[in-house]
Amino acid sequence: MSDPVMGTLYVVATPIGNLQDISERARQVLARVNLIAAEDTRHSARLLEHFNITTPMVPCHDHNERTSSNALVQRLLAGESLALISDAGTPLVSDPGYHLVRHARLAGVRVVPVPGACAAIAALSAAGLPSDRFVFEGFLPARSNARAARLQALAQEARTLVFYEAPHRLLESVLAMAEVFGGERQAVLARELTKTFETIHGASLAELAQWIATDSNQQRGECVLLVEGLNEKAGKDAVDAESQRILKLLVAELPLKKAAALVAQITGVRKNLLYQWGLEQGL
Ligand code: SAM
Repeated sequence: MSDPVMGTLYVVATPIGNLQDISERARQVLARVNLIAAEDTRHSARLLEHFNITTPMVPCHDHNERTSSNALVQRLLAGESLALISDAGTPLVSDPGYHLVRHARLAGVRVVPVPGACAAIAALSAAGLPSDRFVFEGFLPARSNARAARLQALAQEARTLVFYEAPHRLLESVLAMAEVFGGERQAVLARELTKTFETIHGASLAELAQWIATDSNQQRGECVLLVEGLNEKAGKDAVDAESQRILKLLVAELPLKKAAALVAQITGVRKNLLYQWGLEQGL
């Protein structure tokens, strides 16, 4: 590869665990640019040291990115070449970099991606769930109410859902998903990808919650959660959590038949199915 082009911002993906996953091009760019903007310079120092790269680094993280991007864009406009990296994987994917990239592009700076590892894509590629269309949701809100509202908004999504999750919140998130999407919905937990304890486990949400609850090792390390989208046919034949909630509210004021008819109009679930479900619940 020839020397990096002057005044170019390279967005460089780094490994998500296995250091062999860095590309030859990424190594060359990192070694040859004038400056590396890193999410955490101390963390990335270990990566650079491993590859004998001595390029100077400056911090570029969530807390300073808006202010630091101004100075970085000035340096780019003055002709320096710069690489942006995050702690792991592809910058801007649930990681800092958006403000710098946007600012650089608005200033007319050339922005070049140097692609590589990304946990969401690695997980999707090995999960065995439909992958022709998918939705990347990043991290769910930490608070239970906000998380339930977000999941509710996704309940009718037919595409495969991809989430990042912190290990200490994994179990409660899977339980919340089972509650909103239904325990039978298929899911895959992809944990510690490319590392020694890599685990890719597929099961229904209810089974997955059980598995995680009984094996605390599954609540360690880094993980991606994938959930199959709503199956159109199954969806029509299922009474989702939101329909159940509304039906229970209405049945307090109306006969079951009327309540079921109203819920059918609101949520699109078949009236007879709602009526049947109501009878089963003793409503
Ligand atoms: N930019 C990164 C990427 O391209 O994947 C993601 C950064 S985000 C701050 C970190 C989250 O990504 C973790 O909490 C986890 O959900 C997921 N992740 C990162 N590395 C992973 C790995 N080796 N195995 C499973 N999930 C991983």
